[in-house]
Amino acid sequence: MNQPAPGTFSPATGEALAPVPASTEAEIDAVVARAREAQHRWAQRSLGERIVALERVAQRMLANSDAIIDILVSETGKSRTDAKLNEISSVGVYLASAVKEAHAALAPVAAKLSPLDYPGKKITIEALPRGVVGIIAPWNYALGNFYKPIFPALLSGNAVVLKPSEYTPRAGAWLRDQFEAELPAGVVGIVQGGGEAGAALLDRVDAATFTGSVATGRKVAMRAAERLIPCSVELGGKDAAIVLADCNLDRTVAGVAQWGLHNCGQNCAAIERVYVVQAIADDFVRRLGAVADALDVAPDGEHADIGPLQSHMQLSIVERHVEDALAKGAVLVAGGKRTGTGLGYRPTVLDNCTADMLVMTDETFGPVIAVQRVAEPDEAVRLANDSPYGLNGSVWTTNITLGTTLARRLDVGVAYVNNHAFGGALANVPWTGVKDTGTGIAASRYSYGTFTRPRTLFVDSNSNPDPWWFPMNGDLSDMGDLLIARSKGSISALLKLVPLLGKRVKAIKKLSRGD
Ligand code: NAD
Repeated sequence: MNQPAPGTFSPATGEALAPVPASTEAEIDAVVARAREAQHRWAQRSLGERIVALERVAQRMLANSDAIIDILVSETGKSRTDAKLNEISSVGVYLASAVKEAHAALAPVAAKLSPLDYPGKKITIEALPRGVVGIIAPWNYALGNFYKPIFPALLSGNAVVLKPSEYTPRAGAWLRDQFEAELPAGVVGIVQGGGEAGAALLDRVDAATFTGSVATGRKVAMRAAERLIPCSVELGGKDAAIVLADCNLDRTVAGVAQWGLHNCGQNCAAIERVYVVQAIADDFVRRLGAVADALDVAPDGEHADIGPLQSHMQLSIVERHVEDALAKGAVLVAGGKRTGTGLGYRPTVLDNCTADMLVMTDETFGPVIAVQRVAEPDEAVRLANDSPYGLNGSVWTTNITLGTTLARRLDVGVAYVNNHAFGGALANVPWTGVKDTGTGIAASRYSYGTFTRPRTLFVDSNSNPDPWWFPMNGDLSDMGDLLIARSKGSISALLKLVPLLGKRVKAIKKLSRGD
C-alpha cells in the first residue's frame, strides 16, 4: 500500500496536510550565504544585547503559542495539552537558565603565568563564535529539540540554519519566523527537506549539531570529520529503569509509566526496559498495566495522554517488536494493538521479557514498556549495561545511598535515582550519552565546544627581550642547566639565575643593535 509522503498527513487522524516543498541546492546556498553575512553583525553585538534580543524572541513565542500548538497537533498528532506543556510553556524559563550558562561559558579567562618565569606577560582565553551553525533535528519534539542548540549557538554570536525533520517542517518554519521577526535578518535561517537537504546543509556550515538516529548520526559524523568541522551528535537510546524491592511503589509506577509512555514513547530517553526485582514484580507489573490501560491516545480529546506514532515506519517497528516478544514468551499485560484511528497504538506493557527479544535490544521508539524480572540489583545493573546504547538510566528505591551507588554504575550520560529523562528539559545540565548514543553534549556550558572556539590572546608589555631568545651561547647553555637544577628543587640555582638573566638580556640587545 502506498504511504503518504512524510509531513503530508496528520498521524492522529490521517487528514491530508499541504506539502512543504524541499529546499533546492541553490536555495540552501542562498540561506547559508545570508546567514554568513548576518553573523558578522550579530557577533559584534555584546552578549547583553544578544540576550535582550533573545528574550524578545521567547516572549514572542509565548504570545504566539496558540499557533504553534495548532501546528504541533496537526503535524505530530499529540494533544493540545501535551503540546502546550511539553513543547512551548517552558521556553522563557529555559532561556533564562541558558543565559546563566552562557555567562559562564563565554566569559574570557585569564591564564595564570608565574611572574618570575614570565614577567610582563598577560594571556586571555576568549570564546569566539564558529560562524554558521547547522542544526539538524528529528521530529519527536518538533519544537523543543531545537532549544538545546539554538540558544547557546546564538548567545555565542553564531548565525544558525535550522533543518527540521521532513515529518515536521511547519514547526521548524514557525520557530524560524519567531527569530526572524526579532533578530537581524538572516541570523536564523531554515532549509526544508529530508536527508539530501540535511547533507547539503552539513556541507556548507562551520559547525553542526545533529539529533537523530544512530545510522544517520554515523553518516553525519563521518562527513563532519571529512570537512574538519565540529559536530555534536545526539543519537538513539534504549534506556533502562531498575526497580528495587523497597521502592515507593506509587511514585515508581507513575514515574515508569510517565517516562516509558510520554510522547508515545517517542523519546530518545524513554524507559524501554525495566528490570524489576522478583519480590515486587507481580504488584509492580499489575499496577503498571492498569496505568497503561487508563491512558487516552490522541485524537481522544484535548487532553489525550499520548499521541499516535509519527509514521507508518514507526508503527511497523512497534508491531514487529511486540510480535517478536510475544512469540518468544513475553506476557501481554496491557495494549499490544492499534487504536484503529490514524497511527494510534495502545500503551503497552510486556512482562516476562528476556534479553533475546527485540524489545530488550533494539530501540523501539514507541509506547511499549518491556519488563524483565531479576533476582537482585547486581543482575539488573549487568543487564541494563548490556546494551549498545547509553543515554539515561535510573534506579528506583527509597535507599538513596544504594540507589546512588547503583546509578553511578550505569553506563549512561545521565543517571537518576527515582526519576528519568527529566534532565532533557533543563538548560544547565549536560545531556549526553555513551556508546552508540554518540559523543554529543547538548545543553549546559559543556556544550559550548561546538559553538565556540577558544582564541588565546598574548599581550607582552616587556621592554626587554626575553632572555631565551637568540643568540645561543654558553650563558644560554648555563641557563638551561640552572633551569634543570631549579626544577629539581635547587634554591642556589634560582639565586644564580637572576644575574645570568640580566647578562643574557644585554647580549640579546647587543645582537639586535648590530653591535
Ligand atoms: P533520522 O536520523 O532519520 O533524522 C534526523 C534528521 O536528520 C532529520 O532532519 C533528517 O531529515 C536528517 N537527515 C537524514 N539523513 C541525513 C544525512 N545524510 N545528512 C544530514 N541529515 C540527514 O532520525 P529521526 O527518525 O528523525 O529521529 C528519531 C531518532 O532520533 C531516534 O533514534 C531518537 O532516539 C533520536 N533522538 C535522540 C535524541 C538525543 O538527545 N539523544 C533526541 C531526540 C531524538
